[in-house]
Amino acid sequence: DRRDTVADLPARQHGATAPASPDYLRLESLAKRFGETQVFSQIDALIAKGEFVTLLGPSGCGKSTLLRAIAGLNSIDEGRIVVDGEEITALPPQQRGVGMVFQHYALFPNMRVTDNVAFGLAMQKVPQEERRRRVDEVLRLVELREHADKFPHQLSGGQCQRVALARALVVEPRILLMDEPLSALDARIRRHLRQQLRDIQKTLGLTTLFVTHDQEEALLMSDRIFLMHDGRILQQGDAEALYTRPRSHQAAGFMGHYN
Ligand code: ADP
Ligand code: MG
Repeated sequence: DRRDTVADLPARQHGATAPASPDYLRLESLAKRFGETQVFSQIDALIAKGEFVTLLGPSGCGKSTLLRAIAGLNSIDEGRIVVDGEEITALPPQQRGVGMVFQHYALFPNMRVTDNVAFGLAMQKVPQEERRRRVDEVLRLVELREHADKFPHQLSGGQCQRVALARALVVEPRILLMDEPLSALDARIRRHLRQQLRDIQKTLGLTTLFVTHDQEEALLMSDRIFLMHDGRILQQGDAEALYTRPRSHQAAGFMGHYN
């Protein structure tokens, strides 16, 4: 009972473990150029509700640009992005119901943890009382309640990234996008956060697209992996399928077979 490709998904709908919405996030024929450079093209993918998918590929292959396109932080030239049946391709970022976490946290240095986390709610004009309740809830989820009144410079890198995660979660996004969120952290913190991130993601049933260039991280964390190379998705599958049955020598190389 394994999902090797998007084409295998319909067969699973009859099984007890079939996802409720196998196409919760749809990427249809996405393409993007910067001037003469074709950054990505022919990006087609379905992500199920609650699934944790990792976009894995070497530096420069287009991962960040693709993630930013889904978030609405950069435009695309071709294709459609659909979340839960609603096309979001042309919507501004704050109307997409998408939360994003960046490698270098991107916190407001002059704001306390609570205000960093509450930022999106303030933008949405959520009343003060509800804002306080929801911020408290997500800070508990990321285990940072006792640091609520601190400023970013008083926190470790791992704590800053948990603030960034809380800030993304507080608006209850339909999709969580994370661009190398663990890459700036030291190995011990990174291992701990992998687990915590996965626990939170499963608890919330949150549909997640996670970007990394770290093959081990992808193998350990993902329900499925999209292997990206030169602006294309080479292969999609679970960790075992990609590792044991790479379909191209680029895929095999990137899964570590030539080390
Ligand atoms: P990755 O995240 O996989 O390292 P990126 O999406 O950052 O890759 O970059 C993919 C390609 O697009 C690279 O060749 C990069 O130089 C180019 N690129 C990214 N952003 C821009 C930009 N704003 N203008 C021009 N080229 C860009
Ligand atoms: Mg990148």
